Amino acid sequence: MSTIRFKALESLINREPIMNAAQPEKISDYFGKGVFGETAMREYLSKEAYEKVKDAIEHGSRIERDIADQVSSSMKAWAMNQGVTHFTHWFQPLNGATAEKHDSFFEPLPDGRAIEVFSGSNLIQQEPDASSFPNGGIRNTFEARGYTAWDPSSPAFIISNTLCIPTIFVSYTGEALDFKTPLLKALHALDHAAVDVCQYFDKNVTKVTATLGWEQEYFLIDEALYHARPDLSLTGRTLLGHSPAKGQQLEDHYFGSIPDRVTAYMRDFESESLRLGIPIRTRHNEVAPNQFECAPIFEEANLAVDHNQLLMDIMHKVARRHRFRVLLHEKPFAGINGSGKHNNWSLATNTGKNLLSPGKTPKTNLQFLTFFINTLKALHTHADLMRAAIASAGNDHRLGANEAPPAIISAFIGTQLTNVLDELEKKVKTTGKMTPDEKTELKLGIGKIPQILLDNTDRNRTSPFAFTGNKFEFRAVGSSANCSSAMIVVNTMVAQQLKEFKIEVDGLISKKKLDKEEAIFQVLRRYISESKNIRFEGNGYGDEWVKEAAKRGLSNFAKTPEALDAFVSKQTLDLFEKNNVMSHREVEARHEIQLETYTKKIQIESRVIGDIAANHIIPTALKYQNQLINNVQGLKAIFDSKAFNKAAGAQLEIIQEISEHVTIIKNSIDEMIEARKTANKISDAKKLAVAYCYKVQPFFETIRYHADKLELLVDDEMWSLPKYREMLFIN
Ligand code: ADP
Ligand code: MG
Repeated sequence: MSTIRFKALESLINREPIMNAAQPEKISDYFGKGVFGETAMREYLSKEAYEKVKDAIEHGSRIERDIADQVSSSMKAWAMNQGVTHFTHWFQPLNGATAEKHDSFFEPLPDGRAIEVFSGSNLIQQEPDASSFPNGGIRNTFEARGYTAWDPSSPAFIISNTLCIPTIFVSYTGEALDFKTPLLKALHALDHAAVDVCQYFDKNVTKVTATLGWEQEYFLIDEALYHARPDLSLTGRTLLGHSPAKGQQLEDHYFGSIPDRVTAYMRDFESESLRLGIPIRTRHNEVAPNQFECAPIFEEANLAVDHNQLLMDIMHKVARRHRFRVLLHEKPFAGINGSGKHNNWSLATNTGKNLLSPGKTPKTNLQFLTFFINTLKALHTHADLMRAAIASAGNDHRLGANEAPPAIISAFIGTQLTNVLDELEKKVKTTGKMTPDEKTELKLGIGKIPQILLDNTDRNRTSPFAFTGNKFEFRAVGSSANCSSAMIVVNTMVAQQLKEFKIEVDGLISKKKLDKEEAIFQVLRRYISESKNIRFEGNGYGDEWVKEAAKRGLSNFAKTPEALDAFVSKQTLDLFEKNNVMSHREVEARHEIQLETYTKKIQIESRVIGDIAANHIIPTALKYQNQLINNVQGLKAIFDSKAFNKAAGAQLEIIQEISEHVTIIKNSIDEMIEARKTANKISDAKKLAVAYCYKVQPFFETIRYHADKLELLVDDEMWSLPKYREMLFIN
């Protein structure tokens, strides 16, 4: 066996299991201990400061300088009690990671002593260099400064003796350079629009919060094997490798027992997460071998997004301790399922009601239907934008690959709700007033919507946007994505839709003299008809759906470069601008960054697959071929020509096959390099991405196909890369 592969496997075999540190505490004893949240604030803040911070969290009010000074010194006291020496603003730039710039509390005094300082201004604002993060042309070269600014609605937390302050990140000129800024604005727009609509039903509603419960899928792989695979360590996915004889076809991994080594890892990252206030609760095996999932209890969307970003960091860090690597790529292994990140989304009121949960009375159910139907209508209008929100090079491998929802956006709502909508469509008059009898009948029907919707809990798993009884589940989000990308779109489009709904209903009330309920019924009825095309209850994986969707005029963007177009359509630019979420320039910059990211990813993959094919695959294949040639020459020396033909036939065939595969691989590498050179001359970001997508990437498949054939032909002893069967079964 080749030395690298041998060493990797040997270290795996000799691995001592890593035990968890003793955990005598109950989760409730340490949950949130590392967070400057409710408990710490009550203990450390004055009553006045506490109330001001709460008001900022709940109503987005400004925190004055003197209060910020109080908060910062309380935070410092709390943090220093836990051994903290440094602080950092923690933010989410558009490269998809989280960023930090650490500063010490330490400050020397002129007399040689030193003190610990953390002022209100340290808390409120920092100035990291914006030029080291993607900005899509927003940053002028002469003004590289960017600002981070405190987000009081997400509590500060402690990691590795550092106090981390969640912040937004904007350019010198105030444009967003991160995910959080537009998300906060989208949530604000949604709050206002939803509160206005709630007034039809309940005057006590003064605040509506979007809630998000994500489910994170991931793969684990042994560290030694990871290092022996340059494709995994450089691109996060395997670019080569033949499927193992046994993959996921027996479905024995899903809900099977979790290997001890993995359980130890899970416990460890879960307890770190819980300490940081991430309410993680569920863990289980996923469909593919080595694939797992975890999920928290849902939270306010901005906090949930921060917690997901934080969790991904923690998972990576803790994995190293356990000699694992965690793969968050959407498709680390060909031929077995990839990973997603379901975003469960709903709306909660300050009165404690879930607006997407059917109620007990006709009135609460009309409120439910209002939010439910408006969401479907928004999805119908902005389906292409929803597709754009989840587009990435990694996710392209999943969408439409019969393992994840297709790239066609549609909603599953279940038979019971389908019937309710059909009834409404039939019974509500399109114009004019209803008779009292008609109205009573309608209300009776609505009152009968059951609180538990049976087929929604069973769930159609092939739908990208499924109603699951009291929330929508956006399933097409990629496992490595920042949830904000999806959440900005969902919340903004629903905000806009609710605003339009309110205007229409108010119009009918004042102009047509309809009563409130009649007006609501009429508008909802029209929305049901108009958005019907976006509803699909069947199998989203089937070819029939692709045809049916095309007939309905629904888009089907298989690849990222085209999917991203929807970001810069007039409709989208207007949507974001009207709701004060992003200016045209901000959206265009983001579009550009995403195209660049896409291109870079494919470019790196192209280089890596070229290198591996040239440095590992071809040399190994030739070495083996040479062995066969020597053997054949030996046979020739000892046999007469008839016996020789019989003895050497099979080997001659293999020698021939190896030459054929090697030739195709070599030619493909050369052509791929030429395609890259041609592409690199293109300066337009979209055209460049398109060239990488359609002129460079297709070579991957050819190279892989022939390399994988060689893997089956060449002596296992010589093969240098760990094989799928070795990487995929941790025990
Ligand atoms: P399961 O899918 O295992 O049956 P649930 O349906 O309860 O479990 O929840 C799946 C995910 O949806 C969890 O992350 C959960 O926190 C989240 N979730 C549940 N209710 C809501 C809600 N109202 N808003 C947002 N997310 C929710
Ligand atoms: Mg789910």
